[in-house]
Amino acid sequence: STQVQLVARPHGWPTREDFRTVAVELPPLGPGQVRVENAFVSVDPYMRGRMNDQKSYTPPFALGETMTGGAIGTVVASTADGYAVGDVVLHQLGWRDVAQGDAAGFRVVPALPGVPLSAYLGVLGMTGYTAYVGLTQIAPVAAGETVFISGAAGAVGTAAGQIARLLGASRVVGSAGSAEKVALLTDRYGFDAALDYKQAPVRAQLPALVPEGVDVYFDNVGGDHLEAALDVMNRGGRVALCGAIAGYNATGRTPGPDNMATIITQGLTLRGFTLGDHLQHYGQFTTDMSAWFQAGRIVFDETVVDGIDHAVDAFLDLLRGANIGKMVVRTTPG
Ligand code: NDP
Repeated sequence: STQVQLVARPHGWPTREDFRTVAVELPPLGPGQVRVENAFVSVDPYMRGRMNDQKSYTPPFALGETMTGGAIGTVVASTADGYAVGDVVLHQLGWRDVAQGDAAGFRVVPALPGVPLSAYLGVLGMTGYTAYVGLTQIAPVAAGETVFISGAAGAVGTAAGQIARLLGASRVVGSAGSAEKVALLTDRYGFDAALDYKQAPVRAQLPALVPEGVDVYFDNVGGDHLEAALDVMNRGGRVALCGAIAGYNATGRTPGPDNMATIITQGLTLRGFTLGDHLQHYGQFTTDMSAWFQAGRIVFDETVVDGIDHAVDAFLDLLRGANIGKMVVRTTPG
């Protein structure tokens, strides 16, 4: 099995030298275990946090050990009841091309015909669910409302824009880091307007795009984006604090918004969440998302990087914004 390990804790932006790729000999399967050839492994922004030696909602990656993360693949050997060779399984032993372990850690996926397995790491899985929980449970969207989404051209953001619309939002506005991404948001993902945060400060651009203010802000970025959103929130507005990627590679403490008083004067609710605390809605998500998906009401993009040897490059590219939609690593050909 080819596996990727963390060998040094990044200070600021990670570099390739913080990782190594190793060949690991897998032992014979024990009782109740499966061996899986991964088709795709996921790289996600939250993994940057796990590279630091600090307490968080997931424990830090251990130095010199193979990292973990979402992955999907096919069972190639099994000693476990209920797992047959050929079954497609979702699991957390990513960052490697072949995974093996106790069957309890692997969930059989009833794969839909014609849907690439990578979609179960993205729009039909973790990132789609994150968008869904944020807009139905954390900062619920009501019909006729205006929704602003940052990081809008990424995996969570592209799902969030479409879900906001399906929940009845009358105006959906997004931000992203290039002209190409901004065009994609309005042309493909149904956003009414979008801004390129690299062209001018968000605070200078956002007000003109939301003439009636913002009722729901889905925050993937934090920092300048959160500050700009607070400026234009309507009374009773809701903010889902999903991510704060603007600060993930910061070396010091990151400042809070300079306009916190708006939370008081506009009676806002800002609520942070990690999806692990909200898994009770997963059944409803699967029902709703499968229906939308099969009705052709959800589109998605993926940026696919080939080869486990390039998983680190994929992760670094993700932090830099080289991806459109979900960033995944394809670990087997085809
Ligand atoms: P994305 O596909 O959105 O990829 C990350 C994107 O972040 C990049 O494409 C880049 O796009 C953007 N970005 C990078 N740096 C900055 C910056 N300084 N300012 C603004 N944008 C930046 O990843 P995900 O969809 O997987 O995750 C999106 C967010 O959701 C992340 O913050 C992540 O941590 C969070 N998350 C939270 C979960 C939860 O349970 N709370 C679960 C899953 C994700 P661009 O070109 O536009 O800069």
